[in-house]
Amino acid sequence: MKKIKVKVGSVVFGEGFKIIAGPCAIESEELLFETASKIAKYIDVLRGGAFKPRTRPDSFQGLGVEGLKILKRVAQKLGLPTITEVMDPRDVALVSKYTDILQIGARNMQNFPLLKEVGKTKKPVLLKRGFGNTIEEWLYAVEYIRKEGNEQIILCERGIRTFERTLRFSLDLAGAVWTKQHSPFPVIADPSHATGDPKLVAPLAKAIKSAGLDGVMIEVHARPEKALCDKEQALLPEEFIPLAKELRK
Ligand code: PEP
Ligand code: MN
Repeated sequence: MKKIKVKVGSVVFGEGFKIIAGPCAIESEELLFETASKIAKYIDVLRGGAFKPRTRPDSFQGLGVEGLKILKRVAQKLGLPTITEVMDPRDVALVSKYTDILQIGARNMQNFPLLKEVGKTKKPVLLKRGFGNTIEEWLYAVEYIRKEGNEQIILCERGIRTFERTLRFSLDLAGAVWTKQHSPFPVIADPSHATGDPKLVAPLAKAIKSAGLDGVMIEVHARPEKALCDKEQALLPEEFIPLAKELRK
């Protein structure tokens, strides 16, 4: 099978092991800059959510367009490419103006109008696996994007829901490796959302690399006490940096 490489400027997914990191959500320019500037040297792509899919409607929903602008300004200062989530097909053109990779979150893996809309762009797309979805459904979701002409797709395993409730989700590492072997796309994994536990992020990130996947996405926050989303699972920059150094060896 001919493997597809996904080019994000000079960063190529499918060549070596890539690290995407940053806060769950963008809360302010100061906070994003503080986290991003500390980790910039150790990452390939900066993440940060401006449109957040929250379980509860009264939780922080993200800064929206203002968040996109902050992400772009901070990333430009640091010379990093960016990834951010788009949740609504009507926002695809807008979000595309500000980011290098469009993220489709787990909850939207089967939002077919959204998949078609990102498929019409030329932007790389990171497609997270839905936590209630099979690999077969994930791969059909990929086809929705591909059918519109966009093959620049990175897959991301982020944990699925099983009977096990000790951790936030269950990382399906075997499923991710199978998917890498049976599809042409780069496959990465997200140990932050999969576990919800910062103490498990480093061991799992190393396992993800050892298993031959193409990268990780990790949540990092310089001031978790000020984070408005997923504060309990974020690594501090000083916890993240030694891990990133080891993953880059
Ligand atoms: C995220 O990456 O911030 C996110 C919301 O992840 P997921 O869609 O996997 O829950
Ligand atoms: Mn998050």
